[in-house]
Amino acid sequence: MTKHLAILGSTGSIGVSTLEVAAQHPDRLCVVALAAGDNVELLARQVRAFRPEVVSTRTAEGAAKLRALLGAEAPVIGHGDEGARAVAQCPRARIVVSAIVGGAGLLPTWQAIEAGKDIALANKETLVMAGALVLREVQRRGVRLLPVDSEHAAVMQSLEGHRREEVRRIVLTASGGPLRTWDRERIARVTKDEALNHPTWNMGPKITIDSATLMNKGLEVIEAHWLFDVPPERIDVIIHPESIVHSMVEYHDGQVVAQLGMPDMKAPIAYALTYPERLPDVVPRLDLPRVGRLNFHEVDRVKFPCLDLAYRALAMSELAPAVLNAANEIAVQAFLGGRIGFYDISQIIDDVLMMTAGGPAKDLSAVLDADARARDGARELVARIGGERRG
Ligand code: MG
Repeated sequence: MTKHLAILGSTGSIGVSTLEVAAQHPDRLCVVALAAGDNVELLARQVRAFRPEVVSTRTAEGAAKLRALLGAEAPVIGHGDEGARAVAQCPRARIVVSAIVGGAGLLPTWQAIEAGKDIALANKETLVMAGALVLREVQRRGVRLLPVDSEHAAVMQSLEGHRREEVRRIVLTASGGPLRTWDRERIARVTKDEALNHPTWNMGPKITIDSATLMNKGLEVIEAHWLFDVPPERIDVIIHPESIVHSMVEYHDGQVVAQLGMPDMKAPIAYALTYPERLPDVVPRLDLPRVGRLNFHEVDRVKFPCLDLAYRALAMSELAPAVLNAANEIAVQAFLGGRIGFYDISQIIDDVLMMTAGGPAKDLSAVLDADARARDGARELVARIGGERRG
């Protein structure tokens, strides 16, 4: 049976991989709607290849450019929040791949859930910012929320067929990022390009910096807490540089179930799209003798303070993870722009968390409010650091 899908964030790393999976299995997957940001040239090529009914760009200028590029071949083209909503709620789509980077992914993902779509969730912020609200809505609408993150896909598979009440802990693995073996002094001076040079995973710039700081793992701990209903004190992180064991679940009899595979995002993407079925030959086969050796280490929490900040936010209040995430987005942008140093990222997040009241996440607007205030706070801190650096 063919499944119709919409993709939010089609020109990003996950979007492109999703389309590769769809192109390999045209009998199983049919793309009906695409939303992208500003990469209109790539979006035009995707429209020609997949013939979706509805597409959307971030801006009106982008939409006009796309119309000009496609001419008579153009489908329905929208832009901005309304355009993204049309893609998220496209009537023919059964599953929506949520792959917009950052907090901007929350609203269209929410709208897709409201429209009764199953969600293949790559956007971490949806659960980090609004976990309790989103899960309530998922239950109310009776939709499926399937993780498109190698760690959570691994945990989901390691839980299948086992009893939840017998879970002792979830162990998320982390590659450790490109700075794993550096000392603190050298990390303090790391350049943007060095931090972007990830050893095992090929991802976009924001998430690659998050991997270097380990905030990516912090966000994944928060996500795992919501997805699998396990308290933070029973979610652990260990470093595994080869990225072959994608995560594991330890049961109370002491046995551990892990999921292994080559590090390729197409695996969790395809699994989410066709769950509980598996498509054939999605990724290269795992050749363990060739891999040879799998290593595991403790996380150095002094060198990588972002991980503990995520645990702290989860313990603070329902709104605190949204604050953490917003401050991190602004700080990472500033780091990528060369305006702050590596350890300023964690310092800014720490300061913004301290300044913020937090509180319960009553509704989506409370979350978006906390997000906006945290962004303002983080921007002020970035400006102050910039001033100090110039002065
Ligand atoms: Mg991951």
